[in-house]
Amino acid sequence: MAAFLRAAALLLLLLLLPTPPDRGGVPPRWNPWAPLRIADAPNVLTPLKLARLGRDGALCRAVLAQAPLQSTPVPDREIGPGCRLADAVRITRTRFAVNAPFLLSCRAAVSLALWERHTVQPAAMQLLGAPVQRLQHLGSLACRDVAARPGRRSRHAQADALDVAGFTLGDGRRVTVLRDWGDAEAPAGRFLRALHRGACRSFDGVLGPDYNAAHRDHLHLELGGGRYCR
Ligand SMILES: [Zn+2]
Repeated sequence: MAAFLRAAALLLLLLLLPTPPDRGGVPPRWNPWAPLRIADAPNVLTPLKLARLGRDGALCRAVLAQAPLQSTPVPDREIGPGCRLADAVRITRTRFAVNAPFLLSCRAAVSLALWERHTVQPAAMQLLGAPVQRLQHLGSLACRDVAARPGRRSRHAQADALDVAGFTLGDGRRVTVLRDWGDAEAPAGRFLRALHRGACRSFDGVLGPDYNAAHRDHLHLELGGGRYCR
């Protein structure tokens, strides 16, 4: 709510500017009309800009092209009742190597790129002293309901969500949510908590082990649902 009020106040301020923002010296990251840039750290305008990418596939692909991510577009199609791929991409590599290729909506891929750049890699260097080299995920697309709420489709049903299980570092160390979340004081535990906190700035919804037992082994990162961070 506080973030929403800050965004509303900022929008009002920008609308009252005497000159248009593009000529008024407002940096793109603080200009609500400027397209999102992967190089800019997420802020209160990021959810707004991500939502716009969800409505504009061409703009989204242009933004995604800024990320060091290898992907190919996937044709729009129904994959089951209430499950649909739209503006999705097949990702074979992100900033990191991945354990298996996966599908994501373009906007969720942009969120992933923001998170990896502004949260994952800086936190790895700061808290673990080595860069992340490989991301271990448990999948993205699944035509199913929210486990705890039968009848309501999961964001996984639109490839708007990714389940992240852990990482391998450049020095060979492995960090997994299942093994390392439990010790909040250890470097790996602090790293995973920093990732969870940071994900809440790049994605709309984030669930981790503290939410329920179903998430004991992964961070659920999603776009397009409600705003939550648990
Ligand atoms: Zn999930």
